Amino acid sequence: MILIPEFWFTQLNYIGLYALVVMGLVLLTGVAGLTSFGQAGFVGVGAYTTAVLTTQLAASPWLALLLGVGITALAAVVLGLLTLRMSGHYLPLATIAWCLALNFSMMNMSTLGKSDGILGIPALELFGMSLMDSRAMFCLIWALALGAAWLLANLLDSRPGRAIRALNGGVTMAEAMGVSTFRYKMVVFVVAAVLAAVSGWLFAHLQRTVNPSPFGIKLGIEYLFMAVIGGAGSIGGAFAGAAAFKLTEHQLQGVLPKLLGEGGNYEMIVFGVLLLAVLRYLPQGLWPELARRLPQRRRKRDWEGAAALPQRAKPAPGSALLEVRAVRKQFGGLVAVNDVSFEVRAGEIVGLIGPNGAGKSTTFNLVSGVLPLTAGEVRFAGERVSGLPSREMARRGMARTFQHVKMMADMTVLENVALGAHLRADSGSLRAMARLDRGEERRVLREAERQLARIGMAAHVHERAGNLAMGPQRLMEIARALCADPSLLLLDEPAAGLRLKEKQALAAVLRQLKAEGMSLLLVEHDMDFVMNLTDRIVVMEFGTRLIEGTPAEVQASPAVRAAYLGMEH
Ligand code: ADP
Ligand code: MG
Repeated sequence: MILIPEFWFTQLNYIGLYALVVMGLVLLTGVAGLTSFGQAGFVGVGAYTTAVLTTQLAASPWLALLLGVGITALAAVVLGLLTLRMSGHYLPLATIAWCLALNFSMMNMSTLGKSDGILGIPALELFGMSLMDSRAMFCLIWALALGAAWLLANLLDSRPGRAIRALNGGVTMAEAMGVSTFRYKMVVFVVAAVLAAVSGWLFAHLQRTVNPSPFGIKLGIEYLFMAVIGGAGSIGGAFAGAAAFKLTEHQLQGVLPKLLGEGGNYEMIVFGVLLLAVLRYLPQGLWPELARRLPQRRRKRDWEGAAALPQRAKPAPGSALLEVRAVRKQFGGLVAVNDVSFEVRAGEIVGLIGPNGAGKSTTFNLVSGVLPLTAGEVRFAGERVSGLPSREMARRGMARTFQHVKMMADMTVLENVALGAHLRADSGSLRAMARLDRGEERRVLREAERQLARIGMAAHVHERAGNLAMGPQRLMEIARALCADPSLLLLDEPAAGLRLKEKQALAAVLRQLKAEGMSLLLVEHDMDFVMNLTDRIVVMEFGTRLIEGTPAEVQASPAVRAAYLGMEH
């Protein structure tokens, strides 16, 4: 270590500091799909908190770290409460405003030293050792950066991690699996902010002085650059991005002035061009390219023999399970579902059929809480559930699939299915980070594997979900729903896109589920598929219930024939 020149320690220190911030962005942006331009503001809170406390109040830097992290977390919670329930642009805009406001305060408050900043920040002390030089700081910075990487990797590989990764595809599927998406958005936003604050604290004690410039919106954008260049989808990307950025910046600062014959911040322009090139040729960033060359680690199958997850009490066969009473849904002037009523009793398979656009999926979304009702009532297991969000329906024992498969394409089939068991486990984010959730995690994975085997998907357990063909993807969704241990299974066009063989296999699976006492509501477009499978069929056309009856009655009905003949064209 003595032989490595000082220069490299300085570079590595900055790479470590940047990586801490960018890791938070990987979690927030790459994994959860939320954007923040204001991470530099949180870095500033960490830096200025310790600068003020250690120079003006002679407080311990470690106390200042606690306080800085606390203030940051509080600020993140407030910003999150204001914006995370709203969709789209509110979070990025709020983080920009936050960063600008903070920077403005730093420039103008005399306690914060205005544009001169604060000088004379003491060096850190650890076990009586003073971390004066960059080599000593290198050890601390990298210990914290690698420690944070470990914690985040643990988090992503866990029950909360699956919930966080499910956020990226929009909230509908995650909520239907019982995930409180607001809660997990808050978790990732706070974690990202805290990592930034820790980086700021280290930065202040490395430089021993702070001023407003490194905490402005420019750095906020550069952190996003680093995440995208490195690869926002994985923690390794944070390190790759930070290193690529820092080293390129250093090169450019040497080369550009000579090339252009004048000084100035021309790096940003070159970075812009580099970013476009990376996005064009390596849309996933640098890290996946590096990681391909590393040995692939496959999840060890360590869940064999884990205890079964708790099961819910099943409704008595024949009892009223789902009562749909005159439900109505209007989209503006269009009445998509017009006062439709039907019932599913425990142990039955009920089919909801009708031509395209009849309102089947909308009915389904009303029943499962994905869409709010315009009018009417839904009762489940004797309780009025209309108006509850879909995750409450999930909690009460409804599990569903989607007409258009919703999954986490980059995760394995097993992990996708394990998300279905979200409500049957309770490990939180801190437990997961500390790896204290392993016992429960084994039980969850065992259950996921069991459900996959139950529907004949045992061979696909470790495959990437996005690589599956349509048929297996639909089966995976059913396994995910089964993983919730539902008392009612809602399937939206499970046979769509399946080949005849696959359809027959699916029908056999569904019959088997019924034999095991499961209740099913099945939306289908394919009449033949439901005819030999269901106990009763509800036929919809133009948003209204055409008839309800046994498959034989429905088949004999001239009205149904007419509706379906209309569709065949
Ligand atoms: P099905 O599943 O029976 O094919 P849907 O329930 O998907 O039919 O659609 C019923 C009708 O409601 C269609 O006319 C469709 O265009 C309309 N519809 C569905 N969802 C929406 C929406 N979110 N906004 C506006 N119209 C919608
Ligand atoms: Mg539909």
